[in-house]
Amino acid sequence: QTPEAPPCVIVTGAARGIGRAIAELYAERGARVLSVDLTLPPPLRGQRRVRADISTSSGRERIGRSAREMGGVNVLVNNAAFQGAHGGVLEVSERGWARTLSVNLTAPLLLTRTLIDLMPLGSAVVNVASVQGLFAEQNNAAYNASKGGLVNLTRAMALDLASHGIRVNAVAPGAISTEGVLQAIQDSSDPGSTRQDYEDLHALRRLGTPREVAQVVYFLGSDESSFMTGAIVPVDGGMTASFMMAGRPV
Ligand code: NAD
Repeated sequence: QTPEAPPCVIVTGAARGIGRAIAELYAERGARVLSVDLTLPPPLRGQRRVRADISTSSGRERIGRSAREMGGVNVLVNNAAFQGAHGGVLEVSERGWARTLSVNLTAPLLLTRTLIDLMPLGSAVVNVASVQGLFAEQNNAAYNASKGGLVNLTRAMALDLASHGIRVNAVAPGAISTEGVLQAIQDSSDPGSTRQDYEDLHALRRLGTPREVAQVVYFLGSDESSFMTGAIVPVDGGMTASFMMAGRPV
């Protein structure tokens, strides 16, 4: 038996990928969902959606107004992320660095603040971090720093919001078969071997699905996880169980 759906859920970055799967799972299980994205997310039967940039105060206020109309927020899923500033520490542009930190790290903090008065006792925040918040990847300095920051922000939020009756946890996904990841594989010079390389990062030797991440988010947002706060839960097919690439024999 699945835990009862919370009444009102906000999911950022819900137009596609993992965010879309999270919004769909909550909607399927009977929650009222507000899907947020830079462009209006595709409709989900009878559910609300709003176009907002979470890195702007006007965007966050728009989300706040929709949340008030819904009658409050029981679960906030900070999922949206900017993944476009590639480059190592010597190359990443200041602009790309700033955008990455603003969307991936600062916005979850400020959006939570915007919504805090609408979140009753027993509410939960679930941040979508990454295995790249636990360990670094070459040539991805801004993203690594933003997700590492989000991991420890999750702990800080857990401590500071406990007295408000709000739990805060994070998931750290491995490589997930989202549109973006599948496109990157397709665009590589040898898609077959690129896919194999991605799969071999995980002990389970496959990519995760957006739904598999959504299920853990759902659990962390539900009362089934009522004694969990400040936890970072890898959803990574065993990638971080090893200090080598999933313990692959070399
Ligand atoms: P995605 O890029 O496919 O989707 C992210 C969505 O967020 C997009 O629809 C985008 O428009 C939206 N978004 C970006 N900036 C925004 C802003 N300022 N305001 C509102 N919406 C904004 O991403 P995804 O692959 O589904 O990843 C979702 C989350 O999971 C991200 O936090 C990502 O870092 C994390 N993650 C993904 C993977 C993976 O393999 N796909 C692995 C680990 C972690």
